[in-house]
Amino acid sequence: MKLFRNRQSLSRTCREARLCGTLGFVPTMGCLHEGHRALIRASVKTQNKTAVSIFVNPLQFGPGEDFGDYPRTLQADLELCRQEGVDYVFSPGERGFYPGGFSTRVEETDLSKGFCGARRPGHFSGVTTVVAKLLHSVDPTVLYLGQKDYQQCLVIRRMVRDLDFPVKVKILPTVREPSGLAVSSRNRYLSESQKVRAAKIHAALKATRNASRRYPARWNADSARKMTRFLAGRLAEIEGFRVQYAEIVDAETLSPFSGHAREAVALVAGFFGKTRLIDNMIMR
Ligand code: AMP
Repeated sequence: MKLFRNRQSLSRTCREARLCGTLGFVPTMGCLHEGHRALIRASVKTQNKTAVSIFVNPLQFGPGEDFGDYPRTLQADLELCRQEGVDYVFSPGERGFYPGGFSTRVEETDLSKGFCGARRPGHFSGVTTVVAKLLHSVDPTVLYLGQKDYQQCLVIRRMVRDLDFPVKVKILPTVREPSGLAVSSRNRYLSESQKVRAAKIHAALKATRNASRRYPARWNADSARKMTRFLAGRLAEIEGFRVQYAEIVDAETLSPFSGHAREAVALVAGFFGKTRLIDNMIMR
């Protein structure tokens, strides 16, 4: 496994790898866990070479968010990558990656507007900017993303399409603890009791999906509204969980659900104390 600190040498190596076969890429902010491992495994299994980036991206954190406190565990991360057979790890320094005077943003202006985008101004342009830069450096054949960050997947997929990045986007299912809690680097901020209660977010989503199956095969806007109320009711029962948003919307456009044989997704975000958690589930 090769570790790269600067973009130029990474690019050179990735270009050579591309000449000989496929290259999978898994962008991360480190503190690697089972969710990241699933993406890495999928890539190592199916692509000739796999690159992983580990970079806590300052552009995607707002003022007062946890950029400074975000867990940084490079040695353990490198060990996980080594175990999983990763070929290249890119872990740039902040100043090397964003040179002084860096003033450009890549911004998706539709899917990124609501939900996390509305509550975290600048977050998604930070994400699309870093992913665009990373795609230029790595130039992978396949980009691996996790459904855990549902809105992020849609935003990146749209950017890739709109800006003609020659890469296939693969979205893999959310990896969960046995309790149902979605695995996340931020779970380490939770107390044991908060973790038990946080698992109820997934239970609330499942209960909503089960209840939604009682509706006739064709959903309409009204059934989506009713199910959103049902979900809100379930989430309100979770002690200490402050809901930021909980909505069932069109799974492709994130607009209010209109029916017509479209898929619906339930999106949830909220806080235990200062720790922000998100989760989601496709409803049908
Ligand atoms: P992050 O390090 O949080 O920026 O995440 C890097 C990638 O891992 C993103 O594509 C995430 O969606 C994905 N990811 C994070 N947690 C999970 C999880 N529990 N299951 C699947 N993918 C995940």
